[in-house]
Amino acid sequence: MKLFLIVITLALHLATFAQTTEKVNILYKEFSTPFGTVPFDKISPEDFMPAMQQAMKDGRLEIEKISNNPAKPNFNNTVVALEQSGRAITRISKILFNLNSAETNPAIQKNVREISPLLTEYSNDIALNEKLFLRIKSVWNKKDRLKLDTESYMLLDKSYKRFTRNGANLTKDKKDQLRGINKELSDLSIRFSENVLNETNEYSKHITDEKDLSGLPVFVKEAASAAAKKAGKIGWLFTLQAPSYSPFMQYADNRDLRKELFIAFNTRSAKGNKNDNKAIIERTVQLRFEKAQLLGYDTWADYILEERMANTKKIVYDFLDDVKKYAEPVALKEMAELTAYAKTLGFPEDSLQRWDATYYSEKLKKEKFAINDEILKPYFKLENVLNGLFEVTNRLYGLTFNKNSTIKTWHEDVVAYEVHDATGKLMAIWYGDYFPRPGKRAGAWNNTLQSQWVENGKEVRPHVVNVCNFSKPTETKPSLLTFFEVETLFHEFGHALHDMLAQGKYSSVSGTSVAWDFVELPSQLMENFVSEKEVLKMFAKHYETGEIIPDELINKIKESANFMAGVGTVRQLGLGLIDMSWHANKPMGKTVTTVEKEADITHRLYPEIEGFSVSTAFSHIFAGGYSAGYYSYKWSEVLDADAFDLFKEKGIFNKDVALAFRNNVLSKGGSDKPMELYKKFRGREPRTDAMLKRSGLLITP
Ligand SMILES: [Zn+2]
Repeated sequence: MKLFLIVITLALHLATFAQTTEKVNILYKEFSTPFGTVPFDKISPEDFMPAMQQAMKDGRLEIEKISNNPAKPNFNNTVVALEQSGRAITRISKILFNLNSAETNPAIQKNVREISPLLTEYSNDIALNEKLFLRIKSVWNKKDRLKLDTESYMLLDKSYKRFTRNGANLTKDKKDQLRGINKELSDLSIRFSENVLNETNEYSKHITDEKDLSGLPVFVKEAASAAAKKAGKIGWLFTLQAPSYSPFMQYADNRDLRKELFIAFNTRSAKGNKNDNKAIIERTVQLRFEKAQLLGYDTWADYILEERMANTKKIVYDFLDDVKKYAEPVALKEMAELTAYAKTLGFPEDSLQRWDATYYSEKLKKEKFAINDEILKPYFKLENVLNGLFEVTNRLYGLTFNKNSTIKTWHEDVVAYEVHDATGKLMAIWYGDYFPRPGKRAGAWNNTLQSQWVENGKEVRPHVVNVCNFSKPTETKPSLLTFFEVETLFHEFGHALHDMLAQGKYSSVSGTSVAWDFVELPSQLMENFVSEKEVLKMFAKHYETGEIIPDELINKIKESANFMAGVGTVRQLGLGLIDMSWHANKPMGKTVTTVEKEADITHRLYPEIEGFSVSTAFSHIFAGGYSAGYYSYKWSEVLDADAFDLFKEKGIFNKDVALAFRNNVLSKGGSDKPMELYKKFRGREPRTDAMLKRSGLLITP
């Protein structure tokens, strides 16, 4: 019976292939490259649209076959068949969006603008397909009698909710209304991120008087001089890209220039010009609310949180309020101490402005701990950090990494690796993309070009991408990372491990396809290793002298880790509260100004600034998947602190703990409820005290 099915499936595949051979382009075919990796050298922007159209045509045929199957619906012929449909669509989308984030240009952006609405339409067509829904529903209704394993049950649950949460139970009129809302939301989100990218790229500050560089470390001046030279200018050029902007705010003595750059950065897409995002935000929030109501939820947050580990608004607000209770008094105390310190250096006003805080923090930190980025950076040459990361991963999970230069990438700076486990099995292909360029989004992230699944007994291994924006090597220096950047690199790699070690049957519940407030556990757990002496000694070597980082510096890193932790926590809670304020209520004429006044609790730490806006460049919630979910960063800190406590208790490289984490979390993806997976690893539910203690927020009277 099984064999017969395989033959039929194969025949169908071949038939589809024969029909379409004359139209195929490079993107549509299975890639005949090492490990089936994407042939980036052969793809041109013109390939996307025709390949996608063909892929969608095939996908629709597959869906039709499932919907019109004369056989009675069962788990395999309906749920699994749906899971396995549209593979080419996913593959092409992943390549397109990877390029749009890491190496975009007007032609790629045009593809995204044209293809995104088609993707929305395609997924709406599935979600609103009555016949298909009835088949899924019929399987769902007998779920208790099917004796499915947990993973299959999770797939069924996800498949069923994919329909009901997208309006399968609505009348025809309301379905049409929902379709319109979804399409408009998709357009708005793309325009939001394009506006932020434009505003980031369009600004630069050209400095010609060397006096204005006072306070800046040599590496910052060198990078600014190189940027000016590249733009055909004399002097120094500063931009709003993190490696240029952040050190300027930390070190520049010139307060007026700090203010100018700060305002430029924090009024991105808020200036009322063509890149303004205010109207886009208000429309987005209104439409999200309407969508939630249409589907029977009170607000957008109710709709979103249904699928989370923290699954009600009350749990989220209680959690944020609870942490705020500890963090706010600490933050106010820190600001008072910082202001008093600034006054000893001649600061003339009563309160520090937002463009002063980082600058004086840096000086106070240096005085208190005699430590700063400049002292530490020579120990963190990118190549050394990567080798350290590989060694940590090897000791924990037995993985090895080998560069493979035959694998094509999207830019010459990107390096591809084969990742093998202790038995020699190929676990993944991993790409590292670490330097900024125009056309690459700011920030750091993890994504896949191919996820992991098993089909007809054949296992597909993942192709995983890590992207960061670290300083590029200059003529005189290699790429040297700040300590924060080292943590960022480990963080993204933690996400990559979640994808690379995935061991599931279905891609929809494999790897990082988990609840949003669970997805940061593996990434944040990896950050913990960076502060451990044993780990730093493995890779932190001075790039010129080869000297291993001295104990004294390691102790200072540890002592200084909680410096200004109260302020940092308040900032993060503020972002969580802004997000909830947009999404946990009726919009009722809310504007960027009113929301930020009410929700941004960092206002309690600084004087008010006219025109300052967090929301207009808050891509996480308006162009990413974090709406009604920003709280999850802090939430995951509770999980990772609690998880790492076990590593510390048993020894950070303890094989049993690492194996328990791998077997119950990393390899499991979304194949079970997050709380269940966590309890299997930890032996109990998570507790907040490890996080509060680690951050120095538990002040004992
Ligand atoms: Zn992350």
